[in-house]
Amino acid sequence: MTTIPISHISPAKINLFLAVTGKRPDGYHELVTLMCPITLADTVTIKRTRRKITVSCSDPDVPEDETNLAHRAARLFWADWTREKKGELFGAHIVIKKRIPVAAGLGGGSSNAATVLLALNRFFGKPYTYQELGAMALNLGADVPFFIFQRPAIATGIGEVLQPVTGILSGSSIILVHPSIRISTATVYQNLNLRLTKYHQRHKNLDLRVENVLKGISPGKIEKYLYNDLETVTAARYPEIEEIKQTLLSLGANGALMSGSGPTVFGLFRDKAVARSVFRHLAGEYPWNVFQAECWSCENKRAK
Ligand code: ATP
Repeated sequence: MTTIPISHISPAKINLFLAVTGKRPDGYHELVTLMCPITLADTVTIKRTRRKITVSCSDPDVPEDETNLAHRAARLFWADWTREKKGELFGAHIVIKKRIPVAAGLGGGSSNAATVLLALNRFFGKPYTYQELGAMALNLGADVPFFIFQRPAIATGIGEVLQPVTGILSGSSIILVHPSIRISTATVYQNLNLRLTKYHQRHKNLDLRVENVLKGISPGKIEKYLYNDLETVTAARYPEIEEIKQTLLSLGANGALMSGSGPTVFGLFRDKAVARSVFRHLAGEYPWNVFQAECWSCENKRAK
């Protein structure tokens, strides 16, 4: 592994669809979700050092100690790898330049963790397959395996069973609006009452909807599938969620939804020029953080 620092892109995700279908005895929720990596991304730079793993992050709200998910990922990789290569000393300095809002439903921490696993695997000559890295990633969090593959996918189980889907957002522009509220994912899940009959009604035809998505949806048709069980929980507490959705729709979004446990809301636009002008309008007039992005694997370039 070279001692020259190498930078890696660590993309965010949005959930186009999220249904919580149950709770396991160990407390994890089972879900069916359609996730898409997007071009809004952090940069994770890794430099090999003598023996310690250290992290620094541009966002003061993110811990820099061993609780940082990037730190945990490096330790996990190293613990596994040293089982093969006993005795070699390892250290790394990981610098995270945050652009993805923190605790925002965009999976920033999980993505950083996956990026570290991918980067270390590359440094050491790819000793692990993607499948093996995915299994390792699950120890760090339910969303982390998704970021190992970085492709739009339907995730089931607790999020670790991934089925790739193609073309869902090709040609679309995404406007993300983050109202500067930090949300604890755990609290949102705690406030979700799965016994309510409304969830059973809304989950009608779930298998059929998943089947349709897996068969391939023609561009511009994904909007009618937008759905998130967690939106009602977060929106009940923060009225801005509904306000942002309505604002995006009134400005021409073809669909709008809260991502994950929120509070970030995204709008989908089939017309990139419209999306650009909505981005400028919202960034100039509203007290929200606004980003423009595309599907990561469709465009594979950075967000504005
Ligand atoms: P979730 O994956 O639970 O949906 P999220 O996407 O809403 O989370 P993150 O930005 O991943 O939110 O942050 C969740 C928590 O993880 C925050 O409290 C944050 O301090 C902590 N954290 C640890 N490491 C990182 C990291 N590298 N980047 C961002 N947050 C981190």
